[in-house]
Amino acid sequence: MSKDIADNNNTDAAENTVLVGSIQKFSTEDGPGIRTTVFFKGCPLACRWCHNPEMIDPDQQLIFTKSKCIGCGHCIGLCPNGAISADPEEGIVIDRDRCGVCLRCASECWAGALRPVAREMTVEEIIEKVAQDKEFYESTGGGITLSGGEILTHGTFIGELIDAAAERGIDVCLDTCGHWDAELLMSLAKRPNVTDVLYDLKSPDDDIHKEYTGVGNSLILSNMKKLADDPVTAPKLNIRMPLVAGVTDTDEQIRKAGELFADFGIRKATLLPYHDLGRSKKRNIGGEQELFEAPSEDRIEEIAAFLEDASGVSIEVLGRV
Ligand code: SF4
Ligand code: SF4
Repeated sequence: MSKDIADNNNTDAAENTVLVGSIQKFSTEDGPGIRTTVFFKGCPLACRWCHNPEMIDPDQQLIFTKSKCIGCGHCIGLCPNGAISADPEEGIVIDRDRCGVCLRCASECWAGALRPVAREMTVEEIIEKVAQDKEFYESTGGGITLSGGEILTHGTFIGELIDAAAERGIDVCLDTCGHWDAELLMSLAKRPNVTDVLYDLKSPDDDIHKEYTGVGNSLILSNMKKLADDPVTAPKLNIRMPLVAGVTDTDEQIRKAGELFADFGIRKATLLPYHDLGRSKKRNIGGEQELFEAPSEDRIEEIAAFLEDASGVSIEVLGRV
């Protein structure tokens, strides 16, 4: 279940640790230069094409990677809930309704087939890890990118992390869906060492946004306008739009996006054609993700050219949603 906007602001006040799914080094698509991207768990949206579905639930989860399982059967007897069994055809099967995520099985699966999605980390632990590549950030104009999930669900912690990065002379890029408290968003985006704000616009149409992400886009649009209107945050803003064939790439959607960009004075936008990497991740946490399609290369070019002409925005096309 995703964390709800209604219970924000107080939820992370006492967070000394947060669940970090992964820390990805040498990333080149999460902001300028060479970056280290930190993925935090918990998101108020649940995009049907999400490429990191294991980051949506704010709570810990168990990953089972069938291809890594050597069939030793050791996990079966470890489970206090009887949630693990061996099927003659399918091999090891996890009954997710019974699993209480105690992680006993993961702690003794030497093949690495069972493991937790995330681990609890402090600000200091994260900073120590990301500071290892400071020389690469300095030589390429890079830094760290805070992503998820949705970073604003851990607002106080993220603020402390940004400040700790500033003390080390490390620049920060924020990657956010924008569906959260405006004051918190602006206070983080205005920090001097925050150089870029990657801001998702899943769809400019409220109904489509709701149908495919679970929430409407009114809060996201009003927060986008605040960022675009503020002289400190406007130059940092980069709108990221997923291109999903038949959903977000229609003439109507692209026309609306162009109008919005022109209206808000957006300067930079990034197009992210759909890919299906989220499907295997979803399967590994116990579920199925539907299959979508990316637009053709020609259509992507056409959309990029249209948006540049219609709104004067500078468009980049990257390889992920
Ligand atoms: S302990 Fe790991 S490798 Fe062994 S059967 Fe269980 S999941 Fe497979
Ligand atoms: S994490 Fe789930 S499946 Fe594994 S031992 Fe605990 S309850 Fe059983």
